[in-house]
Amino acid sequence: MDYWSKQYIPTLKESPAEAEIDSHKLLLRAGLVRKIGSGIYAFLPLGAKALDNVKRLCCEEMNRAGAMELLMPAVVPADYWKAGPRWSAAREIMYQVASAGENAEFPEEPAFVLGPTHEEIITPLIGSEANSYRDMGKTFYQVQTKFRNEIRPRYGLMRAREFIMKDGYSFDATDEEATETYKNMAKAYEKFFARCGLKFISVEADTGVMGGAFSHEFMVPAEVGDDDVVYNIESGYAANVEKATSGIIPADLEDAAPVGDIEKFETPGVKTIEKLAQEFEVPADQQFKTLLFVGDDKLFAVVVRGCDQVEEAKLGSLGYALIRPATVDEIFEGMGAYPGSLGAVKGTIKNREKLDGVYADEAIRLVGNGVTGANEKAMHLKNVNVTRDLDIDRFGDFRKVQAGEPCPVSGKPLEIQRAIEVGHIFKLGTKYSENEEYGALYVDKDGNRQPAVMGCYGIGISRTLQSIIEQKHDKNGIVWPWSVAPYQIIITVLDPGMEEADTLALELGQAAEAAGASVLVDDRAERPGVKFKDADLIGIPLRITIGGRGLKNGEVEMKWRDEESSQNVAIGDAVRVLLEGIEAKSKL
Ligand code: ATP
Ligand code: MG
Repeated sequence: MDYWSKQYIPTLKESPAEAEIDSHKLLLRAGLVRKIGSGIYAFLPLGAKALDNVKRLCCEEMNRAGAMELLMPAVVPADYWKAGPRWSAAREIMYQVASAGENAEFPEEPAFVLGPTHEEIITPLIGSEANSYRDMGKTFYQVQTKFRNEIRPRYGLMRAREFIMKDGYSFDATDEEATETYKNMAKAYEKFFARCGLKFISVEADTGVMGGAFSHEFMVPAEVGDDDVVYNIESGYAANVEKATSGIIPADLEDAAPVGDIEKFETPGVKTIEKLAQEFEVPADQQFKTLLFVGDDKLFAVVVRGCDQVEEAKLGSLGYALIRPATVDEIFEGMGAYPGSLGAVKGTIKNREKLDGVYADEAIRLVGNGVTGANEKAMHLKNVNVTRDLDIDRFGDFRKVQAGEPCPVSGKPLEIQRAIEVGHIFKLGTKYSENEEYGALYVDKDGNRQPAVMGCYGIGISRTLQSIIEQKHDKNGIVWPWSVAPYQIIITVLDPGMEEADTLALELGQAAEAAGASVLVDDRAERPGVKFKDADLIGIPLRITIGGRGLKNGEVEMKWRDEESSQNVAIGDAVRVLLEGIEAKSKL
């Protein structure tokens, strides 16, 4: 049992200007965290307690799923990363450190990096042992501080430069066993997020720079999230927009027959899809839009319908690791024309050999015969037929799905919802393990060396903590779920120092603790209004008020944070009612 007067809970009446979203404001106002630098936070005692609860729930579910806790170093010799497949792609998000005694201002070739994730460590760590097939079927995890040099840290713990992650890694002998392990982990994730009191959805996700076979993200619906989830409730389809597909292209779509020869026409001052649509009555869905990107320093073009947007994450399927939109100069270099009049009609791309490829989204087949830029200033082409005229190396799915499009499973309209990614699991396959020097091989029953089939599993522990606040708060403060609350019960003593009140607080507090609940006694010499406000702000699930008129009447007041009304309980019944309440909550 802790007494508020002996604790350090610096609550704030106003939210500091640095906080934009409710959960960030409440983290600060309830005295859970303080900012140390951009994207860098310290946890104060109350915050540390709540964080510890999230971590404990996570470890419990990992252990139940058969995973083993270990601990790898956070400071990692850079050679581990250099030997792996992601050094160049991941380098810009890593904090890089010179070796001790080295006098470099910023190391060109760093001796160490601060770990942003640990595939590059665990693979050789496990791989360097003499593993047989009996050593496979193992999953390891750790809870550790991770470091990422995020360009735009924001929203407090949501996108931080230093944060707490649970990262897990599995090693299996066969692909089937790896899939089983993955499913088992997905179940453990569902249990964990449910125990955190979160509403969440698991969605199909892009495998991105991680590579691998398939992947799911665990998403907490919230307007402040960084991700868009595309879903249809009836069919159960749910995917990150980076990965989502829709049924807008009928399976039996045939290529349109040409309507006539290509014609060039003047389009003075027209540089956008919208303007072309307005001034020349060509709807955006009858235009071809040509966009240029740079991938691994190579220039390439992507053609989509004028009404569509390119989903950059989907371009990862083209095999480039680092992708960004091309600059105006780069566009001119490849196309011999500037944005506003670009097109991919055969023979019109001036420097075609400078393009590593011209790729097109499948949905342009819906256009059939359309309009596109002529790669000449203020000139466009019409009657452009996809099959006859466009210079396409490869078709694929590169467009962003939009709300209202038909669900790929049921055909019913898709919905889109903002969400926070709190967990991400990947079936990696053998991408990391197959390298002989660096990877993880094992000896099978026939004595042959085989790469382990791996999976990796991340949970943002500190992001989950803040997501809980984002989902569970009201105008007065945090509404902690029982499982995560820094204290589960607050006993607000209105007349501290009055023996009867203090004795009763002690008695109820001890009974609650014996039943497994954590208790904070507010023994401060503050006005009742201040104490009630603070108790609401820090979000303790059950408040028991002792003192005042109630005590004179032989009653205490019990109020659940997530309920409107309170209950007056006779002192003689208080322990029983309290224990019933604790038991009901502990079952959840
Ligand atoms: P994001 O897309 O949000 O940048 P990510 O896909 O890079 O995240 P993973 O590498 O999958 O993240 O990391 C596992 C988990 O760690 C994420 O699901 C997320 O909950 C958490 N996480 C990642 N980056 C951060 C960060 N900068 N601050 C807090 N938590 C983070
Ligand atoms: Mg992720």
